[in-house]
Amino acid sequence: MASVTLENLAHSYRPNPGEDNDFALKEVNYTWEDGRAYALLGPSGCGKTTLLNLISGLLTPTHGRVLFGDEDVTASSTADRNIAQVFQFPVVYDTMTVEQNLAFPLRNRRMEASYVAERVARIAKMIGLEADLKKKARGLTSDLKQKISLARGMVRDDVNAILFDEPLTVIDPHMKWELRTQLKSLHREFGHTMIYVTHDQTEALTFAEKVVVMHEGRVVQIGTPKELFETPAHSFVGYFIGSPGMNFIPVTVAGNIIQMGDRTIHLAHDYGTPSGELKLGIRPEFVRLTKGDGLPIRINRVQDAGRHKFVNATLFDTEINIAVDEGCEIEADMTSVNLDAEKISIFCDDWRIDGKSAGHVEGSAT
Ligand code: ATP
Repeated sequence: MASVTLENLAHSYRPNPGEDNDFALKEVNYTWEDGRAYALLGPSGCGKTTLLNLISGLLTPTHGRVLFGDEDVTASSTADRNIAQVFQFPVVYDTMTVEQNLAFPLRNRRMEASYVAERVARIAKMIGLEADLKKKARGLTSDLKQKISLARGMVRDDVNAILFDEPLTVIDPHMKWELRTQLKSLHREFGHTMIYVTHDQTEALTFAEKVVVMHEGRVVQIGTPKELFETPAHSFVGYFIGSPGMNFIPVTVAGNIIQMGDRTIHLAHDYGTPSGELKLGIRPEFVRLTKGDGLPIRINRVQDAGRHKFVNATLFDTEINIAVDEGCEIEADMTSVNLDAEKISIFCDDWRIDGKSAGHVEGSAT
């Protein structure tokens, strides 16, 4: 296994790229640490597959280098990079049994028969294919075929990294959770470097130790699920992570005081005098619906979502969502909200800015 370093890496599908917009992947510098599980998360077209293909060697970058450990592999073929890949759709040998499919990458490398048998049995057990080992792959459901692809991707212990490109797309929804859990325990047990591409935040957040969020060809944040939730580096991360995503409200900022509509709010941090388009970001979970003092709102609708209700309201011409505990009654005189001052983020031209501690702030922003 190896770390994977991206050094000034950028890619354009155009012949003579000039401006930023010509690049499907804008410059990125990052090291994927050896043995960690990562997710590459973003909506369709944001550049996930492009980045994955640069790592696997299916694409040669316009700029920059890819290193596995200390070795520059930028010009190496996919085969020479010694990686395993699992694609969206199953790639199985129909005429072989499940066992033969799993053993194929090992037999190909002339591994000892006893090692092959032990390894196949172990992976099959962990991914729930034990009962199917003797069956021919032809005729199996697409769920089972994709399980074979996943197991085959994990069967070698000498690969530099395992790359997964939306591997659960064809999997039945109720089996997705089970397979994700199995992949996670396979990672814990074998410690491969794994990079898992998905547009599904639940998949990314439950599978990975670190999530790389992409937006319009740019890596906008790399962080733990907690960091993405609590301190999104870009407004896109705030919006994309969470359901519903973060609320954004236009404000003006001077030090630790912000102006929103006709109200002044004291924050926990001092932001100086930033110039640019300024927005306050706060997650629905940190907005409290009240009857008393607070920022005035008008409730538009209430949506029941199991453990929470989500109240959609208008605050100074901006629609916001407020998470309310399931058991809490929404009353007619709940016409204001408090924002938890400690949970407020300030964004300038869509990037989160850090403030300096402004000392203790009593209560919440109202
Ligand atoms: P999806 O989830 O839909 O696969 P993605 O996040 O993986 O999307 P990419 O497939 O990497 O995104 O595409 C990034 C951008 O590059 C898109 O604008 C896409 O249209 C463009 N693109 C991808 N492949 C090519 C290609 N072979 N030639 C030209 N443009 C391409």
